[in-house]
Amino acid sequence: MTVDARPGELVLAGAIDETAALMTLLSRAQGGRLALDLGGITFINSLGVRDWIRMQSAATQQGVKLELRRVAEVIVHQLNMIIATRGNAKVTSFFAPYACDACGREESLLVDAIASAPQLTALQPPPMTCPECGAPMAFNDFPERYFSFLTQA
Ligand SMILES: [Zn+2]
Repeated sequence: MTVDARPGELVLAGAIDETAALMTLLSRAQGGRLALDLGGITFINSLGVRDWIRMQSAATQQGVKLELRRVAEVIVHQLNMIIATRGNAKVTSFFAPYACDACGREESLLVDAIASAPQLTALQPPPMTCPECGAPMAFNDFPERYFSFLTQA
């Protein structure tokens, strides 16, 4: 996993495994806040999940408010399966799978969790337009499963 420090956030990319050293990220919180961009995360293994949960617990204990941005689908699956991975973090945007019936294109599209909150809590996928042909795209997972991480605080 690589960590790229940008103004106001850390951009993580690659695989989260036992070498990811997630705990060290908390020391880079500023004013009790830390924003992580997870758009480049491609893989997480069981040891990575264990360290992720430890990081969330430590953030809660230290009073660090974690914001998760552009959360990749592989992380969304973990947030849905293992409640402890959610901690007290706030997800402000995440990727979700869509497919176009007209041209067959499948794409992971960014969902604004704040702007789309009313739809998401009602388990309604935000409408998306196919970047290839302009047709409306269909959500390509089960909304009650994929959005469940948003329904419990
Ligand atoms: Zn299309």
